[in-house]
Parts: sequence; C-alpha cells; structure tokens
Amino acid sequence: MPYRLSILLSSLALATVFAAIGWDLYGQADKYFEIALVSSSARIRSVYAAQNEALAQRAQTLAYSIASNAEIQRLLDEANETVHAGRGHNKNDDDMRTAHVRHAFQEQVEYQWDKLHTRYEVQHLQFLLPDGTSFLRMNAPTCFGDTSTAVRPMLASIVLQKRGSLSGFEIERAYAGVLGIAAAERTLPDGSERHVGIVEVGFDMGALLNSLDKQLDTGIALLLDSKRVSDVMLESYWPTIGTQQRFILAANRPEAKDWLKAGLLPENGNSPQGHLFTWKGHNFHLIAFALNDYQSLSDPQFSPPGTVLIWRDITDQAKLLQENHKTVIVNTLVAWVVAQIFLLVLLYALRREWERQLKQNTATIKNLLQHNALLLDTAADGICGVDKYGCITFINRAALTMHGFQLKEVMGKDPNELFYHHGSDDHPGSAKVCPVTQTLEDGKPRESEEWLFRRDGSSFPAKVAITPIFEQGQRNGAVIVFHDITEQRNRQEALLHLATTDSLTGVSNRRHFLHQLDAELARQRRHGGKASILMTDLDFFKRINDEYGHATGDAVLSHFVHIVRQTVRRSDIIGRLGGEEFAVLLPGDGTDGARELAERLRHAFENNSTKVDGTAIACTVSIGISDLLTDDVSADEPLHRADKALYAAKAAGRNRTELYDPAWQRPDPEDGSKGMDERRCER
Ligand code: GH3
Ligand code: MG
Ligand code: MG
Repeated sequence: MPYRLSILLSSLALATVFAAIGWDLYGQADKYFEIALVSSSARIRSVYAAQNEALAQRAQTLAYSIASNAEIQRLLDEANETVHAGRGHNKNDDDMRTAHVRHAFQEQVEYQWDKLHTRYEVQHLQFLLPDGTSFLRMNAPTCFGDTSTAVRPMLASIVLQKRGSLSGFEIERAYAGVLGIAAAERTLPDGSERHVGIVEVGFDMGALLNSLDKQLDTGIALLLDSKRVSDVMLESYWPTIGTQQRFILAANRPEAKDWLKAGLLPENGNSPQGHLFTWKGHNFHLIAFALNDYQSLSDPQFSPPGTVLIWRDITDQAKLLQENHKTVIVNTLVAWVVAQIFLLVLLYALRREWERQLKQNTATIKNLLQHNALLLDTAADGICGVDKYGCITFINRAALTMHGFQLKEVMGKDPNELFYHHGSDDHPGSAKVCPVTQTLEDGKPRESEEWLFRRDGSSFPAKVAITPIFEQGQRNGAVIVFHDITEQRNRQEALLHLATTDSLTGVSNRRHFLHQLDAELARQRRHGGKASILMTDLDFFKRINDEYGHATGDAVLSHFVHIVRQTVRRSDIIGRLGGEEFAVLLPGDGTDGARELAERLRHAFENNSTKVDGTAIACTVSIGISDLLTDDVSADEPLHRADKALYAAKAAGRNRTELYDPAWQRPDPEDGSKGMDERRCER
C-alpha cells in the first residue's frame, strides 16, 4: 500500500474513532442531563403526591371534626327537619322557614368559616342534607338546594353509606379541588344515632401550589377538562382562565396561562418523562400527569378529570449542557489533533526505519548477489540454474565458455535443447531421458556423466551434478553443476591402455588377454557356441636377436603382429603372452577354421620378411591350435592345450601348424610328451 494512502486511511480511521468517542461523550452529556431532569421530575412528582395526600387527609379530618361538632349536628338536624317538615304545605312559607334556618345556620358558622378561610386556607365549606341536597355553601351562600350525587361519586357514596368520611379530588357545583366529606351523625337522647347531614371541606388549591413552589421552586398548574367542568359546575364558578378544552384550576406561575393559549402544553395531558421547550429565551422542562379524582382512582375505566403540570426553568442547566457540549467538542478536537500529530510522527518514524532497514537489506542482498556472481563467474565448473519449467535463469561464465554460447543466447532457453540433445550413456545421440528433466520431475538430486554439446555441434564428456531448488517447500527448479572430463577420460583410457596393452606391439598383454579369454569361456558356457585359440612362437628368434640386435628383434615382433592383424578378423583378440609368444583367440571358430587361419598366418609371415634398414629378415612361426571346451574352468586349460600343440609343431620341425590332440592328455613317457614347462626348458 502506498505510504500516502496508508496515511490517509489511518488518519481517516483515527478521525472516525475520535468522532465516535466525541459523539458518545456528547450523547452521554445529554443522557446525564436527561437523567437529572427525569429524577428531579420524579422527586417533584412524589413530593406533590405526598402534599396532595396530606391535604386530602387534612380536608377529611377537618370535615369529620366539623361533622362531629354537636352544634353543627343540631343545626343540620334542624335544617333537615325544616326542609322535610314543610313539604306538602305552602311552598313560600316553607322556603321562608328554610331560608330562616339557613340564615341562622350561616350566622352560627360564619365566625368559624371566616377563621377557616383566612387562617387555614379552607376555600369550600358546604353543609348538605342526608340525601345529598346542598343546604348551605359558606363559600357560595346564594347557591343551595342543588343535588349533585349523580355527577359526584364521592358524595353519592357518603349519601349511600349515611356514615363515615372520604377525601379526594372532585369537582363540585361551586368548587373544584381536594375535598374532605364526612357524614354527620347526631346522638339522640335515647342513645340512638341519626344521620343528620353531610359536611364538605375543600382547600384552596392555589395555596397548595404556592407551598409546593416554596418547597421545590417549580411551576405547578392544575388543568381541568372543560367538559367535565361544564357538566358539574355552575357556570359562575367556572375557573376564569382556560380554553374550550381545558381550564386552569390553579397555577403558581403566570406562564401556564400563556402556554395554554399558545398550545405549548401536551395534548394528551400525560408526559411523565417530560418535554423540553423554550419560552421567551428560557428553557423549560415540563412533566404532565393525570389529576385523578375519587372516581378515576376507584375505577380506571373513568378518565381523570384533569392534568397536573409541573415545570422548571432549566435555562442554567441547559447553558451548562451547552458548555458541556462545547467542552466535549473542543476536548475531542484537541485530543484528535494531538493523536493525529502523534500518528503522523509515528508513521514518519516508521517509514524512516523501514527505509533504513530496506536500504540495509538491499545492500546486503546486493553484496550477496555480487558474491554469488563472483563465485559463479570465478568457479571453474559450469553452473547453470533452471526454473521449474526447465528454462535457464542463470548461467556462469565457465558454462558459457564450455558451451561456446553468449549469455543472451541461453537465458530463458531449455538447456536440454541447447546442451544435451540426448542422454548420458557415454554416446551422443542416446534417447535416454535428460537427468535435469528427471530431477525437475521427482525432486531428487542426481550425479551422472553426460555428453554435452557445444554451440558448434561438437561434444564433450562432463560430470554433471543436478540439485533441485526448493523454495518454501515447493520444487522450483534445479541447479546444474558440471565440468569437462575429457582429460580425465583420456587419462583413464591411457592408463587402461597401459595396463592392458603390450607397449611394443599394441596388442593385449598377457594379463588382459587371459582376462578376455576367461570372459569368452564364461560367454561360451552361458550361450554355447565355438571358439579356438592359436598359440604362436617365432622360430629361432633368439638367433635374430643375436645376429641383428635386440631392436631388429623388436621390429620382427612388431612386423609379426602386423601380419597377424591383417590376417585375423577385427573381432579376434590378439595377446602377447611373453617374449615372442603370442596367442590369438578366435571367437566363433572351430578348429577347422582356426587351422585354416593359422595356415594363412604362417604363410603370410613366412612370405613377408621384416624389412629393417633395407635388410629383409626372414622368420617363421610355429602355431599350436586348440578349441575352447565348455568343461574349461579357466583360461589356463585351453592355453595349456594350445601350448602342447605348439610344442608338437616345434618338435615336428617348426614353421608348422599343429592341432591339439586329446590323446596327448594321457602322459606317455615313451614318446617324450612332457608338460609345457618341461618343453620350454628343452627349447
Ligand atoms: P625356438 O625356435 O625353439 O623357439 O627358438 P628360439 O630361438 O626362438 O628360442 P627361444 O624361444 O628360447 O628364444 C626366445 C628369445 O626371444 C629369447 C630372447 O632373447 C628373445 N626375446 C624375448 N623377448 C624379446 C623381446 O622383447 N625383444 C627381442 N628382441 N627379443 C626378445
Ligand atoms: Mg619362445
Ligand atoms: Mg621361439
């Protein structure tokens, strides 16, 4: 990967990581902010619920204590009697009497009411007849005589039970808020109790909200469903602020009115997690939950009559959140810049280090290559490398010199075509598979002697070593090392010649001849067939030496061999057994053929004198003949027989050819037949 691309990609990766971290921190700030708001909302809500409950208890206790007051019970009893006693008589009289009783009732309670109203924030005090008919509302004295049990389940429950007390939120004809309702039971002189009426106490909801505000520093508003209000309340007692949908029953901050009109408040009236909004440059967090009444609390299928809104001005916290956001962004950016710089410095340093190592390795490789090239070029052996397809990948100077090629002529070429053409059985043109090809196939090293070709078509014997090249466990070519062994071969051949040939005449020496004779015997034993042997000895040769000198004797010996060569076939083997004794092995010839050849030889030598310095030196030869027998165990046996025949020829006057007679095998002391050694002694 290019360096610039790596920088770009790693920078992108780093930027992505920091963006993710920044985003997460940003989100965490929001999350903590929300958690703080939600927990604060939950606390406010629970405080509200506790205060509300306490208020309801107070209302219930107060209603109960008023209902327990004997004077109130008496007044209620009187009112009840008045209302019921008058029925069926003149209605105006009844009303006047009732009004009188109500007026007296009001005057009796006025002082207490005043105190309750001003000191204890009681806003609603109503006395009702046992059937739930309103007799007197201290907070609305002109409003009486109505029966609202059909729309007020809490009141209906007390009417039905005729005893006990209840408390809770409820909408009344002239009041909406937390009510305490208690049945008034008067103990009669006979000890019995009579349900004489109902006392109802309601507190000022605004006062509750103000007290909560002091405690919590929050805005609180109670909203009532307009329909529920209009169903129950007399219109003149409706809350003054509201819309077609909702009235504000009470609110401790003026902004609630504006928000209601502006439609900012939650539609469904239920938002316990709260929502955030901005109003006149201030940030607010507002939660809304159901304002339950006695009915919706006791039976969930009834919808609550209103909503409680609680809000806080969180402008400062929002600013703090913004500051936090800014801090997160700035810190993330700074950290990213620092990390980016560090990354660039690190990458630069790494690159420098890589470059340094590369330079070092390149120099090492260059040195190695130079050494290799030097080794290759200074090596006396020819060295050549091929790839796995057998094509030349390198070749040294010695190899090029030996083959007579230029470098460009061989690179990429198949050495088999250039140098081999053939196999290696010491004969150019053999169809044997090239050892390089074999090593490339089986991966085994090989050493062999080959005939290699030069560019001019000439060839030379070479010792070739082929080693497979393995790279990462794969056969990937081979190295061929070879050297010219022409001189070595020549030396070997000369040595062999020296060891097997008679130096004077060039025929096989005695040892080699015996070896060849043994081989022929073995062949004959294996394959059968015939063969004969001639044993020759020049007649009176000693005299020639004596008369003309040893050198002339040598010339006569050489001349004899020359005559023999001319007489015998190429396949016949001539050996010098010693002195002027020669033997000729005639493979394939029986004794008849051998005798004929021996005669020809004898005649030829007799008739061709040796010419030495213009002098013709005559000489004859005696020849003994024997055939090779399959019973012959060693060369000595046929030689011995031929020698006997030679002895017979000598004995018969020389310049003769004699065939071995098997009868000679039996020694006959009378005819003087003796062993060869004895004969030699005699001669
Ligand atoms: P015969 O007919 O019985 O064979 O008589 P001869 O003279 O040939 O007797 P003999 O075989 O004993 O003599 C062989 C002689 O050959 C003896 C020796 O001096 C001579 N001689 C042996 N080797 C050589 C040689 O290499 N060169 C020469 N010039 N003479 C040799
Ligand atoms: Mg002799
Ligand atoms: Mg002789």
